[in-house]
Amino acid sequence: MSIEKTNAEKLKEKLFAKKDKGIKNLSEEEIIKADEFCGKYAEFLNLAKTEREAVEISLKTAKENGFEEYDRNKKYNAGDRIYCVNRNKNILLAVFGKQPLEKGVRFSIAHIDSPRLDLKPNPLYESSELAMLKTHYYGGIKKYQWTAIPLALHGVVAFKDGSSVTVRVGDDDSEPCFCVTDLLPHLAKEQVSKTLSKAIDGEDLNVLIGSRPFDNTKEAENVKLNILNILFEKYGITESDFLSAELAMVPAFRVRDIGFDRSMIGAYGHDDKVCAYPALMAAINTKSPEYTAITILTDKEETGSDGNTGMKSAFMEHFINEIAEAQGVKGYTVLDNSKCLSADVNAAFDPTYAGAYESNNSSYINKGVVITKYTGSGGKYGTSDASAEYMAEIRSMLDKNGILWQSGELGKVDGGGGGTIAKYVANLNVDVVDLGVPVLSMHAPLEVVSKIDVYMAYKAFCAFFE
Ligand code: MN
Ligand code: MN
Repeated sequence: MSIEKTNAEKLKEKLFAKKDKGIKNLSEEEIIKADEFCGKYAEFLNLAKTEREAVEISLKTAKENGFEEYDRNKKYNAGDRIYCVNRNKNILLAVFGKQPLEKGVRFSIAHIDSPRLDLKPNPLYESSELAMLKTHYYGGIKKYQWTAIPLALHGVVAFKDGSSVTVRVGDDDSEPCFCVTDLLPHLAKEQVSKTLSKAIDGEDLNVLIGSRPFDNTKEAENVKLNILNILFEKYGITESDFLSAELAMVPAFRVRDIGFDRSMIGAYGHDDKVCAYPALMAAINTKSPEYTAITILTDKEETGSDGNTGMKSAFMEHFINEIAEAQGVKGYTVLDNSKCLSADVNAAFDPTYAGAYESNNSSYINKGVVITKYTGSGGKYGTSDASAEYMAEIRSMLDKNGILWQSGELGKVDGGGGGTIAKYVANLNVDVVDLGVPVLSMHAPLEVVSKIDVYMAYKAFCAFFE
């Protein structure tokens, strides 16, 4: 026996936004695909803790899938696949489209740097017969989260003769790791009475790296000497070589499934490799796009996108100018007609901290990829606000392709704020909106995402390029 819907119910169906577009609407098959995709993502993330590592793996993947190094003297045709690497810290992949460049291109741009503890240029010292490294934190961190957890050292040291050595130690159980010590609670009466931001000072984030003196002798600085001796034997590094190095302490954890149902992934650096990997795989998957499909994995987002490897650099613009010139069109004409997905994460609603969010305008775990119309802080300060027309286009694209999606702001209006690379691309007169994966515990050493949402990001980037 069917129950007739009331007029109010019928009208609600027609006029109300569909509230629950969540996991319940997905087939079993789709969920299996998401889990498989995330297995590959975990492999990527275990290898790509820094931007240089992410570039290295992305480049390898691109080469294996028919991408060739960009040659400014070559003319490219529809379907051609090229890559460009900028200073080992950015990578750009392009698949040329059927339409001429004057019709514009499609950009997917994600960042591959994550918050961490960089070593200072003169980091090594000995104090009370312990060898330590001074750090300068990179990006927005809650400093207390970085004490008393295992850390790994990743990076590169460049020598005066032009050679360099890669350092990566601490991730594997067989290797030593490092840590920032914290004060025992018994003696922390003063520390625990301070505010969260003051309890651990930037200058307290010193990393413990050794305790035994060279040759068991008692002379001053022999613990430091012993460490330098180990570093010299292993990497050929002397103390002054730290000056020309980019070394960072990153969490030593490996990527893990979270929850009895294994529905989520806990890892360091989801922000923003959780968008970079789906964007990379969408580029790989794009064979003959209508418009030239350009994927950029950029650096320095966490410190404001400045510098020659950040999104404010002219790297992307120069590339556009060159390929435009080759087709006899102005670079700005290409940009004027281009569209972009700024592929970055947003804050997933956390019921434990519900007060920080506005529930009608937050993104949620398992409800799909999140569109963020604008970021910024306060009165929309420092944002690119995507146009109504572009929002309409993107939500139509997502619906047409059966992609689970939601819209979300970054927390309460006056709760704080943040930004992504969207505004720097928008400033070039490109239509841009943020689209990415909701994250719990963003910027913590262990961030959490939903497997479904990661897969939906991949599907969204694929659809955008098609
Ligand atoms: Mn980000
Ligand atoms: Mn971030």
